[in-house]
Amino acid sequence: MVLCGAVALGPAAPAAAQGALNLTCSVQVEWCQAAATNFTRDTGIRVNMTQRGSGEALAAIRAEAQNPRTDVWFGGTGDPHLAAAEENLTQAYESPNSAALQPWAQAQWQQSGGRAIGIYAGAIGFGINTELLARKGITPPACWADLTEARFAGEIQVANPASSGTAYVVIATLVQLMGEDEAFGYLRRLHANVNSYARSGTGPIKAVARGETGLSISFVHDAVTERNAGFPVAWATPCEGTGYEIGSMSIIRGARNLAQARRFYDWALTAPAQRLGFEAGGQLQTPSNRDAPLPPGAPDLTKIRLIDYDFARYGRSAERRRLIERWEREVGARP
Ligand code: PLP
Repeated sequence: MVLCGAVALGPAAPAAAQGALNLTCSVQVEWCQAAATNFTRDTGIRVNMTQRGSGEALAAIRAEAQNPRTDVWFGGTGDPHLAAAEENLTQAYESPNSAALQPWAQAQWQQSGGRAIGIYAGAIGFGINTELLARKGITPPACWADLTEARFAGEIQVANPASSGTAYVVIATLVQLMGEDEAFGYLRRLHANVNSYARSGTGPIKAVARGETGLSISFVHDAVTERNAGFPVAWATPCEGTGYEIGSMSIIRGARNLAQARRFYDWALTAPAQRLGFEAGGQLQTPSNRDAPLPPGAPDLTKIRLIDYDFARYGRSAERRRLIERWEREVGARP
């Protein structure tokens, strides 16, 4: 968790009488900070921002259900947003700006009973440190099946599904591709090649960029971010097909600052707000607003072999809990 405190009003900002917003943010911290700063500049509403991974955010929102300290949960993988909706931790809202969104973003809203909406999408794949693998004479992977081969022993980093939404999407993807028992057999074999399970989904790709590990299972847009920062990073999506996220946003039930929460929600759906992900945060997800362009160099989801991810099933609270518990029992350990 990264606590980022209040975003100060600039001298030209509107009066502070606009109130405050408590934001839990589950995208990368650079984007979280840019969202907070720009929203304050545009509206005069102060933002107290806390950054947490998707699984961690869900756990905190659950723990605070009787006395919520968050008004809006911005970003993070879609499955835990659906679980929060089902658990009545979030509230329905229909934004006048939702008509401008891609169908997949509106589908998330419908699926959640109006409690979560899509703000971006991104696909799971492999992050590869090309220099490190070349130095070790290791051929990069093309398929899920490659990752369990002996040549990747100790070379792979992934995240822990209890704290990371990314890691949960990986498990749900493998279950959908292989069937559940096969997928857990695969995850146990993969474990032999994993050097560590990171707390957040963004940790492994940063370890790849720094040359600490040759390979990660990550959202491929994050690999492009590292490459753009000058690191020897490439990405690939598995030949068997892969899963994806509908990064989402929800308003918390019992939000103390409901007017400000709705204002942020409306703002976050606009094209200028969505462009910030790339322009201020260097992020390369596919934005959900149809007028926000795909950032240059971003993975084009229409060219990736995506599975027909069953968001309704894998976003169900009990299913999510069951799969994570099975993973903890059979594969890894708690973070
Ligand atoms: N950062 C980026 C760029 C993402 O696309 C996502 C997924 O929504 C996350 C962070 C979420 O990370 P975590 O796996 O820690 O929940």
